[in-house]
Amino acid sequence: MAQIDVQGLKITYETGRGDVLAVDGLDMSVKSGEFVCLLGPSGCGKSTTLMAVGGLVDTDAGSISVAGAPIDGPSPHVAIVFQEFALLPWQTVLDNVAFGLRLRNIGVSERRDRARQCIDMVGLSGFENNYPHELSGGMKQRVGIARALAVDPQILLMDEPFGALDAQTRELMGIELLHIWDRERKTILFVTHGIDEAIYLSDRVLVMSGRPGRIKKEIKIDIPRPRDHRIHNLPAFAEYRQAIWELIEHPVIGTQSGP
Ligand code: ADP
Repeated sequence: MAQIDVQGLKITYETGRGDVLAVDGLDMSVKSGEFVCLLGPSGCGKSTTLMAVGGLVDTDAGSISVAGAPIDGPSPHVAIVFQEFALLPWQTVLDNVAFGLRLRNIGVSERRDRARQCIDMVGLSGFENNYPHELSGGMKQRVGIARALAVDPQILLMDEPFGALDAQTRELMGIELLHIWDRERKTILFVTHGIDEAIYLSDRVLVMSGRPGRIKKEIKIDIPRPRDHRIHNLPAFAEYRQAIWELIEHPVIGTQSGP
């Protein structure tokens, strides 16, 4: 049974300047323990789809089920990692990581133990009492990941989690995320507009069309795991990159005028 199943999803935003049809006729599924990337150009509806799976966006049509149950709000089986970290600046690393456990009424000593374990898992031991402003971007996102892991979700939804990081940190965070995924075997749905990142991380890449978003093509990434930075040198990597590049509806750049 799929852990995430989306059928016929349609989402419209009402704005002062008329309605925006963000997603229309989107079908997708993610199996238990799978790592799937949603890839597409900026504005094609990736975040909207992810937030709908997280129960944070109203839908106009279609069905979404998560861990076998229809979604009509945030599910206890799901945790979300946001691009902009979304940390509480006045709370320490430990309290930020324990935040979701407090919301679930877990007692103070248990939540501190669990938070410490997750801080260790993301390599931040020793920084428990630091505040977010004392951390680098990569460290802040480790806190975001530890906070998501702390509630022990079956499913992690990640919305361009490394988008605010420099290229090298982004790659290192990808490697670490794969290690964590390997150990914890969560189901991961990861939004990105980075082709290399999607190939590197995924079992399957779901390439989205331009807005309104739907799944244009599914590409299975048959590159063995464990993977590391040497994956970039494989001929198969270049072939996937080329195939995906051709599928993506790139924004038009330059001054050339069309017919
Ligand atoms: P992506 O994640 O692929 O960049 P989004 O899902 O963020 O795309 O957005 C899809 C479309 O919906 C875009 O045109 C965007 O401007 C629009 N949109 C997203 N959020 C809102 C909102 N809260 N109100 C109005 N329009 C929105």
